[in-house]
Amino acid sequence: MPLYHTDDQAMLADTVTGFMADEGGIKQQLRHFRDINCQDGFGHGLWKQFAEMGLTGMLASEADGGLAMGHVEAGIVLKEIGRNLTPSPFLTTSVMGVTALSDGSDDLRGRWLPGVLAGDSVLAVAVDEGPKHRPERIAARAEKAGNGFRLSGNKAFVVQGASADAIIVAARTSGSDSDVDGITLFAVPKDAAGISHENLRLVDSAMASNIRFDNVELDGDCVIGDVDGGRALLNKVLNAGRIGAAAELTGVGQGSFDVTTAYLKTRKQFGKLIGEFQALQHRAAHCYSELEIAAAAVIKAQQLLDGGSEKAELMVSVAKAKAALACNLSVREGVQMHGGVGMTDEYDIGLYMKRDRSLAEFMGDQYYHAERVAQLSGY
Ligand SMILES: Cc1cc2nc3c(=O)[nH]c(=O)nc-3n(C[C@H](O)[C@H](O)[C@H](O)COP(=O)(O)OP(=O)(O)OC[C@H]3O[C@@H](n4cnc5c(N)ncnc54)[C@H](O)[C@@H]3O)c2cc1C
Repeated sequence: MPLYHTDDQAMLADTVTGFMADEGGIKQQLRHFRDINCQDGFGHGLWKQFAEMGLTGMLASEADGGLAMGHVEAGIVLKEIGRNLTPSPFLTTSVMGVTALSDGSDDLRGRWLPGVLAGDSVLAVAVDEGPKHRPERIAARAEKAGNGFRLSGNKAFVVQGASADAIIVAARTSGSDSDVDGITLFAVPKDAAGISHENLRLVDSAMASNIRFDNVELDGDCVIGDVDGGRALLNKVLNAGRIGAAAELTGVGQGSFDVTTAYLKTRKQFGKLIGEFQALQHRAAHCYSELEIAAAAVIKAQQLLDGGSEKAELMVSVAKAKAALACNLSVREGVQMHGGVGMTDEYDIGLYMKRDRSLAEFMGDQYYHAERVAQLSGY
């Protein structure tokens, strides 16, 4: 399959690019919600506009009122979110949360998806329990109790955890902490008794939460998919989150590259535009090439995921690692090529660097995914 968009996908990209540039820009979204110290970390008005355009339900089935699109299309939105540094619950809600709920019962989907599709609800996904991504180990436990479960344990750095209407939690219902089997996914309502939050503002101004579940009573209807058999669904959710984060990283890298090349074309020093110096042209060309390679890896992984290929998981890790490397190169070179003003707050380039740091960690950094590529390749 060619590594570029079909005509329909290109049309979607045109629409989303214009919409995000008009409505999701750094000044009216990221800077605004950061400067007012917004505790949700994103704007509900824009989330409602996402819904009006059908974007909140793009991965949901048509039977559930969604657009039944795939990861290539979701990635088009995420790239523009990245390019504009738009604070949005799209990745956790419409990509990861909707992927998780797609395996849920009619009742569960009926309970949560209409709010998501309408832009009224937000979902968070709680997997990791320590400072680094390590989904192989799940220690939070859900014991059978009555006709439901009692959930106890801690989840770390849950993005939008405190503002989510439901938290999708991966918990252990049998076995020991590092067993592959024995995992169950639950959709936990935010108002369930026994949940407490330690809210955190991340370096990129996004909100996350360390969540404690203390004997939280869940009825059986909160279970998504099979009890004890949730590892495959968890992997599906993680792959959706990883390729989504990779797509967003390519947008962050591209946005950083765009503001940097614009600066090279306007800033004069030693009587010339600094972009006329060949040393800076070489550095810009290097960034451009790495971003193109990352974009190709991302679209390949998206296509394999959408096609249900068994090679998708390997390519998702290639894409997440490559996108992290390319984006990090772009933001570091951007700061360097902005010279002394690179980290002043009134220039956007420093904001790109902060978002890069946060997204690089989200769902596994480049080292985690390089290791994953080695394992899946049998090294
Ligand atoms: C022409 C020039 C040349 C320079 N050369 C050098 C040099 O060679 N070596 C050197 O060390 N310094 C140099 N500097 C200084 C340096 O670039 C800046 O002074 C320094 O980065 C601090 O910037 P600031 O005082 O504008 O702080 P601010 O704009 O306040 O930013 C400080 C940091 O805090 C972050 N920040 C600010 N507000 C918020 C907020 N509300 N929430 C989250 N984060 C926030 C910013 O993004 C930034 O990372 C130079 C500066 C200029 C203008």
